[in-house]
Amino acid sequence: MSAEASALPWASAPAAGNAIGLYARWTPALDAKIEAAVQALRDASIQHGAGLLQSSSLGVEDMVITDLIARHRLPIDIATLDTGRLHAETLALIPAVQARYSREVAVFSPVAEAVITFVQREGDDAMYKSLDLRKACCGVRKMEPLGRMLAGRSAWITGLRREQSGARGEVAVDEDDGSGTGRRKISPLADWTWAEVWAYVQKYEVPYNPLHDQFMPSIGCAPCTRAIAVGEDFRAGRWWWEDSTKECGLHAKS
Ligand code: SF4
Repeated sequence: MSAEASALPWASAPAAGNAIGLYARWTPALDAKIEAAVQALRDASIQHGAGLLQSSSLGVEDMVITDLIARHRLPIDIATLDTGRLHAETLALIPAVQARYSREVAVFSPVAEAVITFVQREGDDAMYKSLDLRKACCGVRKMEPLGRMLAGRSAWITGLRREQSGARGEVAVDEDDGSGTGRRKISPLADWTWAEVWAYVQKYEVPYNPLHDQFMPSIGCAPCTRAIAVGEDFRAGRWWWEDSTKECGLHAKS
């Protein structure tokens, strides 16, 4: 998919406002897409049982999926990573989800000693110094706890959409996660558009990160996320100083 195709659908510079007002548009296809997403979640739940969990980034796509899981009473665990560098607005969604849906969100954090050692050796801003150090930081703060999150699981649910970037243009609803273990990655919103995600949020009043209102379509750690400009790729605000695929390893296929 080209950068153009994955750019936000703004015809002109956006006015300040909320993301729902800017993006939400209920398309003729959305009812069927919701039905298909619920069916994908149900099928995965039946197939994997307790081996399935939602790995939520707490981004808007994942909030929609959590809403679908809760609304349809699917027995699927929900988990998230707290890297230690998330925005306060992101962290606030954890109790918000628990309160709204009466569902526990399991929080996986990096090993404290590993973080201290890394920061003492490389500095608090190591991610800006080189791609290798940025990936090392992601390794300590994301990949290691993700490994613990997925241990013993046969499938995980993500909010990946094909529209998000060229690197995600081929995302399938159900695919091998590339770990070499045969584990499956389920992406029930793979064919949803940005407008459809926000139309769902609007209709079902899904809680979402207010940073999305500040032109951050993709939200990661605070030091590595910035707002994007008109016409930029969805993930242009992630590791914006790099000329990379904008992936941290969670979903990169090497
Ligand atoms: S996104 Fe940035 S702060 Fe977060 S783990 Fe990766 S490099 Fe570190």
